[in-house]
Amino acid sequence: MKENLKRDDLIAAIDETRTSFDTDNPVVPFIEGDGIGVDIWPASQKVFDSAVKKAYSDQRKIEWTEVLAGQKAFDATDEWLPNKTLELFDNYGIGIKGPLTTPVGGGIRSINVAIRQKLDLYACLRPLRWFSGIESPTKNPGDVDIALFRENTEDVYSGKELEMNSDEVRSLNAFLNSEFGWEIREDSGIGIKPISKTASERLIRAALNYAVENNKKNLAIVHKGNIMKFTEGAFRAWGYELVKSEFSDVAVAWDDCNGDPGDKILVQDVIADAFLQQILIKPQEFDVIATTNLNGDYASDALAAQIGGIGISPGGNINYENGKSVFEATHGTAPKHAGKDKANPGSLILSGEMMFRYMGWNEAADLIVKSMEKSISEGNVTYDLARGRTDATTLSSSDFAKSLTENIEGF
Ligand code: NAD
Repeated sequence: MKENLKRDDLIAAIDETRTSFDTDNPVVPFIEGDGIGVDIWPASQKVFDSAVKKAYSDQRKIEWTEVLAGQKAFDATDEWLPNKTLELFDNYGIGIKGPLTTPVGGGIRSINVAIRQKLDLYACLRPLRWFSGIESPTKNPGDVDIALFRENTEDVYSGKELEMNSDEVRSLNAFLNSEFGWEIREDSGIGIKPISKTASERLIRAALNYAVENNKKNLAIVHKGNIMKFTEGAFRAWGYELVKSEFSDVAVAWDDCNGDPGDKILVQDVIADAFLQQILIKPQEFDVIATTNLNGDYASDALAAQIGGIGISPGGNINYENGKSVFEATHGTAPKHAGKDKANPGSLILSGEMMFRYMGWNEAADLIVKSMEKSISEGNVTYDLARGRTDATTLSSSDFAKSLTENIEGF
């Protein structure tokens, strides 16, 4: 499989993926999820099936197939992430998952990170928008409408870390001292931050392509290149080079147009710390973000909090080149609410909405968004979204799903 496809080949690959779902009964593997997974998966599946039925009558239907990961997998197979699960995600090219318990002291650092890395799902897409009626800590949460692309495979998340006082850290420290004259305190742990041209380009290319496909006006490369010049700074430089080499017909860098892009997409870069200020002060100025792994982790949660949507923000992990994808609720397993039919299924439902859009099933996706907008604005919400609202009725997970399916049937 060729990696780092140029723009035209990427567009062809995306078309091919969509065509592969232009079928009546695609199989979609799902992980129910630990903790509140037992509450939010069944609720979400009802909403998905209802939207597909409304959009396509009986012509299309998803064949859901459960795959195991997390505590449920460990209890059944003694493995946190069975190979079979990865194989099925790989074979069907798509999947969706609820939250997973992170094993404490187990042989796997994070199941989520393992799924992303093993399937090379290089882009983490987090769409961030406000739903009218949701309580937010900011004055104008509706100003946030941002698609954030976070690089998913590199940076300090690549797991290249050595522990203080280990033989490996001593040996690396000695090498760094003898070869480069670097002096690192003896009692240090050391982590490596690889940022490659290949991974940076394919992530930024996917974000630029998304901006073009969705008629967005601007894209910001968010980085910390003023300090980390050869990693974060290089990410920025490779991004600008890509705009020139592959997207010059549709996008232009700020410096090349004095901030006046005409009808092209305006590409600029923002230093990560300044970005965290700017999204509070003028979030309406950002449409699409392309950023490195750690910056993306911080920025996506900051933006989710800003729209009051930390419990309902969806996510997708996507390799646009080979088409593979796994969509996921972005919150955790909320153990204290598990099995109580109480938790909000919104994050998983909106992850499904992203999945349908990715498959080209836009009619089903639109119905899901419309039904969510209606229930939330009318105050038919789960406990977390009812807090702070005087006009809301608190619904269980299953009743929230029922409210959405009733909306869908009524549209
Ligand atoms: P958490 O997201 O489970 O809970 C944080 C808070 O948010 C809690 O107060 C919880 O009640 C609330 N909350 C979360 N989801 C909610 C929902 N859908 N509806 C209503 N309220 C909700 O985070 P945590 O407590 O730090 O982690 C618990 C477990 O989940 C840990 O094992 C952690 O490693 C894991 N985790 C998994 C993922 C994932 O699978 N993507 C993400 C984060 C944490």
